[in-house]
Amino acid sequence: MRRPIIVGNWKMNTNLADAIVLATSVKNAVADLGVEIILCPPFIWLYPLAEILEKSPSNLKLGAQNMWFAEKGAMTGEVSPNMVKVLAKYVILGHSERRSNFLEDNNLICDKVTAALENGLTPIVCVGEKHKRSLAKKPGRPNKLVTENDLFSQLKGSLKNISRNDADKIIIAYEPVWAIGTGDAATGGYAAEVIKDLRDILADLFGGPVSERIHILYGGSVDSENVREFVFQPEIDGVLVGGASLKAKEFIKICREAAGGR
Ligand code: PEP
Repeated sequence: MRRPIIVGNWKMNTNLADAIVLATSVKNAVADLGVEIILCPPFIWLYPLAEILEKSPSNLKLGAQNMWFAEKGAMTGEVSPNMVKVLAKYVILGHSERRSNFLEDNNLICDKVTAALENGLTPIVCVGEKHKRSLAKKPGRPNKLVTENDLFSQLKGSLKNISRNDADKIIIAYEPVWAIGTGDAATGGYAAEVIKDLRDILADLFGGPVSERIHILYGGSVDSENVREFVFQPEIDGVLVGGASLKAKEFIKICREAAGGR
């Protein structure tokens, strides 16, 4: 069974003091939980947090929220994979806020995924449809939800240059855009149906056994009240948490609930 993964995406939040308190609280609370936890603070806090988490439990790691794909050069304001890897093991790529606010397309995201893998970083690749779908069924596929083609092309486009050997080093985060930061989380059933479709695509791209090893998370308004609805679904391998990852008590509760949920 794939071990559940809980990602905390702090986005552009926290001052240094808050970041230290939050990371230290999580570190002190999660040692014995059977889940992997990845904290993704703003770039600028990676260095102090890497020092604080140096002797942290082995199930707690740091991730970046983004990076550029080239090693170095005239890219004012950007951070390269070989810079990130000094401080973090994971990197979120293709988050919907990067796609919409910074116009990142699948080709660019694929270049970043490739660069992350080349540098030994685990990419957490986000995909998600913009609009909530009805539970209408596809003709001939009665158990499949109708989801936007855009979602599937995001997955295929973001992974198009990835080899079968590397595919299971990637984590996918299914994050419906309509559920991010809105309080309107998908139901566990909806997320599980879409994730089954995504896994089918991964099987087409990389083969069934490889696709079975890839973690696919759900993200979008997850909190301690609803997290079990997702992690109880065998198709869903964890959650990516935004707003609720900024409150230590709430995030720790999410991790505990998730650890008990499988
Ligand atoms: C996110 O940051 O990707 C996210 C899912 O945010 P929230 O949990 O606040 O919806």
